[in-house]
Amino acid sequence: MSAVPLISRSGADLRFSSYDVLVIGGGIAGLTAAIGAAHRWHVGLITKGDLDETATFLAQGGIAAAMGEYDSPDLHLKDTLEAGVGLCDEDAVRVLVEEGPARVRDLERLGTKFDRRDGKLILASEGAHSVPRVVRAGGDATGSVVASALAEAITSGTRVELHENEFVIDLLLDAGRWVGAISLDREGGLTVTLARAVVLACGGAGQVFAHTTNPLVATGDGQAMAYRAGAVMRDMEFMQFHPTALYGSENPTLLLTEALRGEGAYLRDDAGERFMVGSHPRAELAPRDVVVRHMKRVFDRDGTDHVWLDARHLDCAFLRERFPTVYNGLKARGYDLCTQLIPIAPASHYFIGGALTDTWGRTGIPGLFACGETASTGIHGANRLASNSLLEGLVFGDRTVRELNRYLSVSDPAVRKVRLDLANEPRQGNDPAMVAEKRKAVAQLMTDLCGIVRNKEGLAKAATSLGEIENSLVAPGLCVAELELFNLLTVARHIVASAAVREESRGVHLRSDFPERDDAQWRRHVLIQRDADTGGQKVYSRSVEES
Ligand SMILES: Cc1cc2nc3c(=O)[nH]c(=O)nc-3n(C[C@H](O)[C@H](O)[C@H](O)COP(=O)(O)OP(=O)(O)OC[C@H]3O[C@@H](n4cnc5c(N)ncnc54)[C@H](O)[C@@H]3O)c2cc1C
Repeated sequence: MSAVPLISRSGADLRFSSYDVLVIGGGIAGLTAAIGAAHRWHVGLITKGDLDETATFLAQGGIAAAMGEYDSPDLHLKDTLEAGVGLCDEDAVRVLVEEGPARVRDLERLGTKFDRRDGKLILASEGAHSVPRVVRAGGDATGSVVASALAEAITSGTRVELHENEFVIDLLLDAGRWVGAISLDREGGLTVTLARAVVLACGGAGQVFAHTTNPLVATGDGQAMAYRAGAVMRDMEFMQFHPTALYGSENPTLLLTEALRGEGAYLRDDAGERFMVGSHPRAELAPRDVVVRHMKRVFDRDGTDHVWLDARHLDCAFLRERFPTVYNGLKARGYDLCTQLIPIAPASHYFIGGALTDTWGRTGIPGLFACGETASTGIHGANRLASNSLLEGLVFGDRTVRELNRYLSVSDPAVRKVRLDLANEPRQGNDPAMVAEKRKAVAQLMTDLCGIVRNKEGLAKAATSLGEIENSLVAPGLCVAELELFNLLTVARHIVASAAVREESRGVHLRSDFPERDDAQWRRHVLIQRDADTGGQKVYSRSVEES
């Protein structure tokens, strides 16, 4: 199912455009790649929503980079490896931590105003960082400040042609090279975009789960397209759940940044106990996976599904100034951060899995590059260190540009023939109400059976239920909601299949039937690839050393 041509022959007009480089995605990774590539190449940038509908825009805490007096890339490396629980690619992490500070300075040159005191960058503390290391802007509005500076650079003065509100359906192939994409605009028109290189920077897939901090656009389109294109998908079982998201049914839910705990906020259970004290030497500032595990223990013990964030002991004026996004976001929802306990529960937040790339954004498929949350460079291992992902977008977006410069200097510029994989007949597609209902069903079953804690029976049931949902659908028509549902199903299948294979608990992957970490068997990555002959998915594993 996941390999069906997603494009229906609809009778819609086809438009054509062409660039040297097509970047898909306007978050930190895509914007960095597009701005850099535009110095030498004609660049097209397509985004599914407006430029501010990204995870990047929502980011609160900041960007981790070794820029403090008592910090060093080696210490940042050590913290990242420790948080990654034995699965990080150390070479990739070294690239991240060594190039990170220069990329943050690039952002400043571009106009980003990071928070400073007495002229010095203010560095925040977050979980599992051994020193204050997180550069921030606008208090807790780092993402919107950074995204606005990058967007400003795109819209004024670069040679990037921006196409917002255009949904890329799939990639286009010419003689084994990926040379463009077909996209659907709001009016239902299709555009064929040819390019000598394509950069996938479509962000994550938090919407696979019912309670998420991710924007509505995070439906795993980049991962699903990469898979259909033949890329190797890695670590798809690792979805990081953030411990402190506002409890409730809002989609997306409001994140309560880790920096709140960095400034001294507590986690409490129903009885008012600080359950992280005594559970981990760093208490509330333990790595995210550890905090989530202890929250789950409290849920099981107390028969509840949320705990409490307590900032009441902190100075209210300070909270309002330091955390305007969180303070005002809570106020708008009827909560007062200064005087009330805030109900919180874990929410899907960052997708560690993605299209396998090297440290130059190469997927191994000529012409196809990936960076940001869509990619798997190996820097996060089995658990991402807080605030390393904006840095990832900057560092690997930039390295993708450097590799594009090499690739485009030597690759054949001519596109010979592009095959449009259109269905033969116009498709009716699926009823919109049913599509909405199935999307909810996928998110709920993934939360119930493949969420924070997994086991063999639940995963088998999840696989069966996903199959039933697929079988209840006809092939998609030209409708974004339907196309997203098919991508969500593809990614959900990958998460379930990889989670079933990893028979241990490590980082963000918890198996109640295999509760221990098993280094003897499982210092391995789970990989998924489309079988070109059968169209089915191949699942296999490879040791960290072989990877
Ligand atoms: C609430 C929140 C807070 C966070 N806080 C932090 C933080 O403080 N520090 C940190 O390091 N990380 C943080 N993260 C994580 C971080 O924000 C993301 O990992 C990072 O921004 C991802 O960047 P990206 O460029 O890969 O993707 P995104 O910023 O998500 O952008 C994805 C882009 O792809 C486009 N796209 C997707 N599918 C298609 C398609 N089919 N066709 C066309 N375009 C498409 C979207 O329109 C969008 O433009 C946070 C995440 C969230 C959700």
